[in-house]
Amino acid sequence: MVAAEFSTRLDVTYKTLREGLKSNPRDYDWRISQLRALKFMLEENDEALSQAMWKDLRKSKFECSATEQGAVLSEIALTIQKLKSWMRPRRVSTPLYNFPGRSRIVNEPLGLTLIIGAWNYPINLLLTPLIGAIAGGNAAILKPSEISANTADIIAELIPKYLDPKLFAVIKGGVEETGLLLDKPFDKIFFTGSGPVGKIILAKAAVHLTPTTLELGGKSPAIVWKDADLTVTARRIAWGKFMNAGQTCVAPDYLIVHPDVVSPLITELRKVIVGSFGVKAIESPDYCRIVNTKNFDRLQALAKDTVIVAGGAFDRDNLYIEPTIVRATPDSKIMQEEIFGPILPILEMSVIAEITEFISNRDKPLALYLFSNDDAIVDAVTRQTSSGAVCVNDNVIHMPEPSMPFGGVGASGMGNYHGRFSFETFTHAKGVLRKSFWFDVPVRYAPYTNAKANLLRWLFN
Ligand code: NAD
Repeated sequence: MVAAEFSTRLDVTYKTLREGLKSNPRDYDWRISQLRALKFMLEENDEALSQAMWKDLRKSKFECSATEQGAVLSEIALTIQKLKSWMRPRRVSTPLYNFPGRSRIVNEPLGLTLIIGAWNYPINLLLTPLIGAIAGGNAAILKPSEISANTADIIAELIPKYLDPKLFAVIKGGVEETGLLLDKPFDKIFFTGSGPVGKIILAKAAVHLTPTTLELGGKSPAIVWKDADLTVTARRIAWGKFMNAGQTCVAPDYLIVHPDVVSPLITELRKVIVGSFGVKAIESPDYCRIVNTKNFDRLQALAKDTVIVAGGAFDRDNLYIEPTIVRATPDSKIMQEEIFGPILPILEMSVIAEITEFISNRDKPLALYLFSNDDAIVDAVTRQTSSGAVCVNDNVIHMPEPSMPFGGVGASGMGNYHGRFSFETFTHAKGVLRKSFWFDVPVRYAPYTNAKANLLRWLFN
């Protein structure tokens, strides 16, 4: 049972933010000041934030810099640079039937937003959407994952110190607390997490008709065709899969490999793993841990009916799973759910049509990777499958590109963000038409005649 104290605190926070929205116009200068404050927060507390993520996930300083604070800082820099042009109303053409008139699109703030984060990138996945919320002129309640508890604590401590406390707050908690939060009406919900919880969020959002973005997961395949450069392919795949110990939403979940190159690819992957983390990855300062025993046990069970061809050490006391490669079949247990850990199954397929059909018969993935230089194959795979994104000859690295929308499709999510797409996600694109009094075409008014109907038809075409 959630303490009455939590409910009272939640009510007060919610009311404060609603009042804050009324008293603050959240203009361009305010948005820039909040973005700068967020930047200072990350810069001044870089070490403490990294330490929190080390405690939660044993995440290395390098990965924190590249994929957490660094990624958020680069998004802030871009937003500060572009915000003025994003906020400018956009003139659009006015059709003849509205002559004389002027049409514009004004992106207005949505209001009070709720951002719910996941534990695997606990800074990035909470603060990158926050940048969009600020850029859009909104207030926000942040709900970090309770699983990355150390990072949640420091975020809850820092946000009120740096950002306007009348408009931004952090509410910590698990399932029950999040349920209470979701009972409140928000003007936007931005959720990052699993599909099953995404359904709960969407059902709760429906009660208040709250627009909702769902950034979910799924099984992202990587196809390795026979013409691929296996050395580079192995290096990139091992990087994408074993970063954060495989606990990355866009990590390649499994490989589909042409039979001719399965064996040399495994040889290359083994070399890269040793080259990156040494013979004993458990001793590497660069290799993360599984977030908790629940996920460790789930992963160990998934590996049961596979054939291990590299790695395979499981150490529950240290929440350590060695970078592991397994041979699997479409019926293996590991192929039935998102892995979200450092186990990489390999399936063999030799016909592109079979591969695209296999992918199309499953939930639409968040990302699809293809390693090949054959244009016809790239074209066929891109056209014959649906996924949040496609990345050819690399993996994961498409995600931070701010000029492309990041988001899923179907079971991997709805909506998107990053760069200008975040601004769009956190605003309402309002059409504003301004007409003049001096010319009032009488054609639309009764009494209706055939001549008026013909003229209208002409005007609308
Ligand atoms: P999760 O769905 O278990 O939890 C996400 C958030 O929802 C947490 O803040 C949690 O407190 C809250 N939550 C959990 N159960 C809830 C419930 N019953 N009611 C209300 N709120 C609830 O996900 P996770 O384990 O934190 O993250 C892993 C999943 O997230 C994976 O599926 C992964 O692919 C996905 N993910 C997606 C992205 C993306 O950008 N698309 C990024 C990271 C992770």
